Amino acid sequence: MKNFYFTPGPSQLYFTVEEHLSNALKEGVPSISHRSKAYEKIHQSTVEAIRHLLGLPQDYHILFTSSATEIWERTIQNMVQAESFHLVNGSFSQRFLQIAENYQINAMSQVAEEGKSVEVQQLLIPETAELIAITQNETSTGASQPVSDIYEIREAFPDQLISLDVVSAAPYVNIDYSKVDTAYFSVQKCFGLPAGLGVWIVNDRCLAKAEQLLSRNKVIGSYHSLPSLMEKSLKNQTPETPNVLNIYLLGKVATDMAQKGIEQIRREIDYKAALLYQTFAQAELLSPFVENEKHQSKTTIVADAKISSSEFISKLSKKGLVIGSGYGKFKDKHIRIANFPTHSKEYMEMLSDELLKIQR
Ligand SMILES: *Cc1c(COP(=O)(O)O)cnc(C)c1O
Repeated sequence: MKNFYFTPGPSQLYFTVEEHLSNALKEGVPSISHRSKAYEKIHQSTVEAIRHLLGLPQDYHILFTSSATEIWERTIQNMVQAESFHLVNGSFSQRFLQIAENYQINAMSQVAEEGKSVEVQQLLIPETAELIAITQNETSTGASQPVSDIYEIREAFPDQLISLDVVSAAPYVNIDYSKVDTAYFSVQKCFGLPAGLGVWIVNDRCLAKAEQLLSRNKVIGSYHSLPSLMEKSLKNQTPETPNVLNIYLLGKVATDMAQKGIEQIRREIDYKAALLYQTFAQAELLSPFVENEKHQSKTTIVADAKISSSEFISKLSKKGLVIGSGYGKFKDKHIRIANFPTHSKEYMEMLSDELLKIQR
């Protein structure tokens, strides 16, 4: 029996990946030079597919890195001289804060209790903060930050750069990207691709900031500084030899998703999320970890388990259904279930039935 992965990244591959992968091998994609016209064409069509799928403004740039983790570091290097401010509601947002601290800047934060998101009404962000970092979907706890909160922060802080982590939310989250300056994701979450590629969306304000820091003799990195990434991206290239295969696959999957219709994908995710939360309400041994409905993630869904989560995991794995354990200190207390575009209604219904069968 083949396993079906509900783990929150890496996860089940998007159902069209196998076919695209086999075409890529037939076309020799992994062997082409990253300085060739053939590569430039792939690069350009992937950028266009992402722009179209996410509805990105024409003047926003799309750059490729190795991961979202890399983008955290590049963001601090290129966009912050002295002060950043982070909304923290779990391990991933905490990790970004920690990277900022590694750079010995004044990295400030407002930390929400685990399973909650920061309440914007209680936010006190100093005007001196150059960058405000928000995590739209905190994969470790399943707590998400409503899009309306992000718009409120934008209104209150028009001059600050706003950075948005949509790693486990894009393309599901329906957000007007013109309300943030930079957003980013890696491809092994909702896009259902093999890991090893980060996508960094930036506007001209981010670039201007990097140029300003450079003119003040600050070190902003080398081959993956924003100006260096930008210079190559204008030629549909990257500074280094990139993950050409994954860039190719991303373009194909983004095109498939757009063809299916992003609204349809969102409706299906909403339906499956409702089903899972309803399952948690009915199951004897489960309850949603995030109690406030407006903060409940739709794409990475976390339940508190009244028995060891390893029992859930091992029972389901006998049926070929692979779910995630809790993150970090919650490893044994939580189960985490990815609800990405590739997880079909049928599979989610099967998972729900199996979850309900597990009793003390
Ligand atoms: C997975 C994840 C990351 C890190 O992604 P990498 O590809 O491992 O660098 C960052 N933020 C969130 C919210 C994530 O879920």
